Amino acid sequence: MSRSQAKSETLFAQAQQVIPGGVNSPVRAFKAVGGTPPFIARGLGAAIWDADGNEYIDCVGSWGPLILGHARAEVVSAACEAARRGTTFGAPTEVELLLARMIVDAVPSIESVRLVSSGTEAVMSAIRLARAYTDRSKVVKFEGGYHGHSDGLLARAGSGLATLSIPDCPGVPEAITAETIVLPYNNLTAVEDLLASRADEIACVLIEPVAGNMGVVPPAHGYLEGLRRATRNAGSLLVFDEVITGFRVSYGGAQGAYNVIPDLTILGKIIGGGFPVGAFGGRREIMDMLAPSGPVYQAGTLSGNPVACAAGLTTLQLLASEDPYVQLDRRAQFLADGLHQAASRVGVSITINRVASMLTMFFSDQPVVDYASAAASDTERHARFFHAMLDRGVYLPPSQFEAMFVSTAHTDSHAEHICETAKLALEEIAVR
Ligand SMILES: *Cc1c(COP(=O)(O)O)cnc(C)c1O
Repeated sequence: MSRSQAKSETLFAQAQQVIPGGVNSPVRAFKAVGGTPPFIARGLGAAIWDADGNEYIDCVGSWGPLILGHARAEVVSAACEAARRGTTFGAPTEVELLLARMIVDAVPSIESVRLVSSGTEAVMSAIRLARAYTDRSKVVKFEGGYHGHSDGLLARAGSGLATLSIPDCPGVPEAITAETIVLPYNNLTAVEDLLASRADEIACVLIEPVAGNMGVVPPAHGYLEGLRRATRNAGSLLVFDEVITGFRVSYGGAQGAYNVIPDLTILGKIIGGGFPVGAFGGRREIMDMLAPSGPVYQAGTLSGNPVACAAGLTTLQLLASEDPYVQLDRRAQFLADGLHQAASRVGVSITINRVASMLTMFFSDQPVVDYASAAASDTERHARFFHAMLDRGVYLPPSQFEAMFVSTAHTDSHAEHICETAKLALEEIAVR
């Protein structure tokens, strides 16, 4: 196809001179699919335009935050108005209180919440708190689960590490990863056995209640309930990393949808309305161990930044008033059905996992229930499909191990167009 990329190619070459790999976060470099990443110039609603003027339907949504689409007018206005009043004070502001209150009202497990600047930072701080509260040191995570890039959590992680096949990361001392125990996702017995024998070492079990960073993998029936029971019996904290699923799977997150209440919850992405925000919260008794109420230190110059909080607050207010979750679910199902039809028409085996408005089309004829089954997908075929879609104006996540996100800006006609395009793309890659 004749998509012009001259400007993006020039920018990418120049960026590689001054930024490692030319990007500020690894998956953006397209390593898993090859080629040059389009440099994005602007976005509006469901569309983005690159530096060469190509238009795409965006199914990435900045990896999750943009549930209302790009540049939603009310969110942009709120951020601009906040910026005009001053961009940061390093002192408390009312908008932080308003955002915190909305989070507390929405998320069942959260009575008290601390705002930070990224999901990584929120997870890191929640773990410190869990260790202090339990006076234990070990953290259980799951294979293919991604919780940001802090040292202890890079062990067998998803997202960019799965994409780039990075098993262990240089620069992380073994003494630190030794504090992390990695178990397979969706295997309750593995957790029960571990907690039965070593409960007194385990500070917390950290999980994406719906996995989103090995591609979308829903929790098996009874799995989250089982984790709740096992951690409670062991005196370990159950920590839900809802950085993707918070305000996505339902207004109350995955915990609201599955009705399983963790001890601590981590948020990010959507709550910043497209600005850098993370948060962690839980029962007041645990959260009050944080400084200045308690001895566990945690701080940030730009934490609770008023511009970011104004954008996040407006996003949550719109989600609360418009309640788009039924519509998002229906549209995502429509998309999944259409992709299934497109694939079966050309005889390509796929497995689609979908939870609410997050979905992954795996090039696999097997059910995908954990990291091992996700990793068995045909990533080479995914890469060809990705490019065939990109050339036709549909921007998908540039890795098999990531989620597509549907936003309120995606209409039925966008969904139809994506499915029509998928038919053409799948035909193209099937004949070769
Ligand atoms: C994106 C993500 C993070 C990290 O958030 P950042 O803001 O990128 O640091 C943590 N956990 C999950 C589940 C994520 O998807």
